[in-house]
Amino acid sequence: MKRDYYDVLGVSRDADQGEIKKAFRRVARECHPDVNPEDPACEAQFKEAAEAYEVLSDADTRSAYDRYGFDGLRGSQVPDFGQFGFNDLFNIFFGGGTFDSVLRDAGNGMWGAATGSAPPPRGEDIDLAVTLTLSESVFGVTKPIEVTSEVTCETCAGSGARPGTGRDTCPQCHGSGRMREVSSLGGFGQFIRTSTCNLCRGQGTIVNDPCETCRGTGRVRATRTVDVELLAGIADGQTQIVRGAGGAGAQGGRPGDLRVRVAVEPDEHFVRDGDDLIYRLDVTMIEAALGTVAYVPALDGDIEVTLRAGIQPGEVKVYRSRGVPALQGYGRGDLKVVVNVQVPRHLSTEQREVLEQFAALTGEANYEPDQSFLDKVRAVFRQ
Ligand SMILES: [Zn+2]
Ligand SMILES: [Zn+2]
Repeated sequence: MKRDYYDVLGVSRDADQGEIKKAFRRVARECHPDVNPEDPACEAQFKEAAEAYEVLSDADTRSAYDRYGFDGLRGSQVPDFGQFGFNDLFNIFFGGGTFDSVLRDAGNGMWGAATGSAPPPRGEDIDLAVTLTLSESVFGVTKPIEVTSEVTCETCAGSGARPGTGRDTCPQCHGSGRMREVSSLGGFGQFIRTSTCNLCRGQGTIVNDPCETCRGTGRVRATRTVDVELLAGIADGQTQIVRGAGGAGAQGGRPGDLRVRVAVEPDEHFVRDGDDLIYRLDVTMIEAALGTVAYVPALDGDIEVTLRAGIQPGEVKVYRSRGVPALQGYGRGDLKVVVNVQVPRHLSTEQREVLEQFAALTGEANYEPDQSFLDKVRAVFRQ
């Protein structure tokens, strides 16, 4: 039993063209193969709606249907959408899935839908991870990285043909790489579908005598070592992309990319803050009180740091352009040396007595008020 076309689209008998079109699009959207892949019920529903839309969107067939029902359409040869695949049907009405371009040309009764010319498939992208020391990440390093992927077959240099033989023109598409299928829709004209040739996959040529090494594919799987130059200044969690260093493309396709994700090991001495490096310089309370010379093992050579007598905890010495090179742009960040004053945790009886004597000899004048410790620490980190 065929359902009434107005019921199928859920519109009233006096619906105008806009409402009919809208109703059909609603069914199409609900049944889109991307939403409901390979759902036979949906496919049947869509074909029913497409037929209803074809009849009701044409003034002549609609008035024949209104007056005589299905009998009125006998002479008009309603298209049999059953012969089309679900995706083809979407191409007929929506041209590759966009709901805004109905490709039917009422003027000449020709419908067209192109699946688009597919470029040769690109090689696969390869994701790898590498762990660097802080120093390597700051100054950059070249790391040999093992990559397993498809590579171009050396025997045939990627052609897929046995050495000494060539590729022949594809007998199916005669070298165009494209197929053109014309289906008759009876009185409704023709549906023309262009697609990539499935024999040569759009290349226009085929291999008759395949290379034995790669069995005609032009590629083999292999492990190779790629020297990846990791840029100075790269940070933990960043990914460096080496264009074209991924898998080889099939049939003349471009190679994929190599994507190297960087992890940076925590460093004993330094913390990275953007392009700045922060170093904690430990001095004893005696050294802080008397003054001292200390060494900072900066990544590009030691720095001699002179601490005046009476230096305070949290004081910061800034060494311009001794930090991390800017990954994009010029220059380097700063090295900030933060003074940390260590207080003895255990005292012998004798040490305690000496310190008590010292305390008796000192007063407020020895301890001038100072900038707040927290303000100094805050100043270390960029706002
Ligand atoms: Zn072909
Ligand atoms: Zn080969």
